[in-house]
Amino acid sequence: MTKEPFTCPVCGKRQPFKWLFLGGSKRYILKCKSCHSNLWPDKDPLPATVSTPIGFICGTLPFMIHWHFIEKNLILSFIVAIGFGLIGFIIVCIYTYKNTYFNLRKR
Ligand SMILES: [Zn+2]
Repeated sequence: MTKEPFTCPVCGKRQPFKWLFLGGSKRYILKCKSCHSNLWPDKDPLPATVSTPIGFICGTLPFMIHWHFIEKNLILSFIVAIGFGLIGFIIVCIYTYKNTYFNLRKR
């Protein structure tokens, strides 16, 4: 059986997208909906060394570019930054979903 991203390694069932936001906490146990195996992400698909610069590029950079080169308008600069940040957030979510593989949770 070939390993698919975001599926249970035992029964091969695809897991819910919302796990992206719950999986970060150590206390939350990811349980397969169909076979009830305890799952754990294989490895961090996006380590902090990568996600921090992405956050900077998507949030801070658009703000600074708008502020320095387009218009010194705080609210408008924030709106631009939030817009770019949202696009970056969606891209990161899709990337993480496509690159997360589960293993059985070690006790
Ligand atoms: Zn399962």
